[in-house]
Amino acid sequence: MSSNEFRVEHRYLELPDSFYTRVQPSPLTGARLVCFNHRLAEEMGFHTSNPEEWTQVGAGAELLEGMDPVAMKYTGHQFGMYNPELGDGRGLLLWETVGPDDRRWDWHLKGAGTTPYSRFGDGRAVLRSTIREYLCSEAMEGLGIPTTRALFMVSAKDPVRRESIETAAALVRVAQSHIRFGHFEFAAHHEGPETVKTLLEHVIALHFPHLISLPEDERHERWFEEVVERTARLIADWQAVGFCHGVMNSDNMSIIGDTFDYGPYAFLDDFDAGYICNHTDQGGRYAYNRQPQVGFTNCQYLANALLPVMDEDAVRRGLRRYEVAYNARFLQNMRDKLGLQQTQESDLGLIMDTFSMLHEHHVDYTSFFRGLSNLASRGQSPVRDLFVDRSVADQWLERYEGRLAEESRSAEEREQAMRAVNPKYVLRNYLAQQVIQEAQNGDYEPMHDLLEVLARPFDEQPENEHYAALPPDWGKHLNISCSS
Ligand code: AMP
Ligand code: MG
Ligand code: MG
Repeated sequence: MSSNEFRVEHRYLELPDSFYTRVQPSPLTGARLVCFNHRLAEEMGFHTSNPEEWTQVGAGAELLEGMDPVAMKYTGHQFGMYNPELGDGRGLLLWETVGPDDRRWDWHLKGAGTTPYSRFGDGRAVLRSTIREYLCSEAMEGLGIPTTRALFMVSAKDPVRRESIETAAALVRVAQSHIRFGHFEFAAHHEGPETVKTLLEHVIALHFPHLISLPEDERHERWFEEVVERTARLIADWQAVGFCHGVMNSDNMSIIGDTFDYGPYAFLDDFDAGYICNHTDQGGRYAYNRQPQVGFTNCQYLANALLPVMDEDAVRRGLRRYEVAYNARFLQNMRDKLGLQQTQESDLGLIMDTFSMLHEHHVDYTSFFRGLSNLASRGQSPVRDLFVDRSVADQWLERYEGRLAEESRSAEEREQAMRAVNPKYVLRNYLAQQVIQEAQNGDYEPMHDLLEVLARPFDEQPENEHYAALPPDWGKHLNISCSS
């Protein structure tokens, strides 16, 4: 490895040892490095002219000096039921590094084999789901939405049994933190108040340094408020971009407010408020329009876990921040998407009616807002053409243009701002599906190309216009299950 600028700090190991078990990865066979995130590696402070040297790390066959892999223990609520048996069942925290800009990175090897928390699982990740996680982490980053990141992935030859036999892969996922709401639930429900406090102070010390010097009560209260607000804002951002997470269990909620754990996620194509992307979620608990409420429920689980060490009223005040923060962020997001700079009382009505219309007429969500961002420059047809019944579009456009007449920005200025918030390119399910198929046949070029497109989702990319196309019929309602 060549000139590096990162230092190793494995601060997670400072927590009480009930929070982890040391586990060596089980090596994969026939590993190939198929995707490596050079830009991210540079940011993290390691420079390598030969990424191949990371293959053996990804395969779980070699550790670098300083790596001390552990499976993290946490618990959590899955589909509303408390599960005390959780923990990293197929992933290992390898180490933590701090880069040249002082940002801290947890390295998590996902697909590294069984751990004491694997329950009935095989500890592996399949190629399909590893690619999906890689793509979406980087798509979210491109969209400016907080997320865990993908550093590199390897494919392997080992067979893995899912609904059919697939092949294994592994991802090195990095994030400022891998601590979840579920870590707090574990501490509170199984370890006791001292452990909750230790964990809380650990998270503040590493990730909320601006709070360190406050007196204890205030420090804890401000911290919880911030966690609640970050969660609320994250979900408001998901809603605005049409992202469905699919498995919003409390063990998949990041304590720093990142989008965490990409499983059966989806970006909406045709707008459908009740869309359920996870076909094992029969009740639609995590449907698109339930996400804001579920985010709150998860904050309540966290709140319960904090009661042993925090004043009940302080916790209550913190929870109240959720709705305020969510509503403010969502409204701002939608105003930005519609290009409304002046504030009018009727704007909320316009926004709600817009959603109803998109829902009722199954309008492609991404293309609709992108079309609005070019109304003056390209005319109405890109928007109108998304409707089967053009008269619906015409009526809505008349109302919208009437509203725009009360704006003071020039159309040019407004549309430029709108294009910076209304992506042209999102990770539609069919796009992911196409590159997965190519990759399964050994060709990773399409995946690399898609990643380049998704890194600049707001830019017009004339040579990549086809990535913005509406899904073909086969790609409209792909069933993505949890089995990953
Ligand atoms: P998820 O639904 O992805 O949040 O996963 C829930 C829990 O199941 C986590 O604790 C995972 O570590 C564990 N898990 C998921 N897949 C596997 C697997 N193939 N082998 C072992 N554990 C797994
Ligand atoms: Mg998970
Ligand atoms: Mg998962």
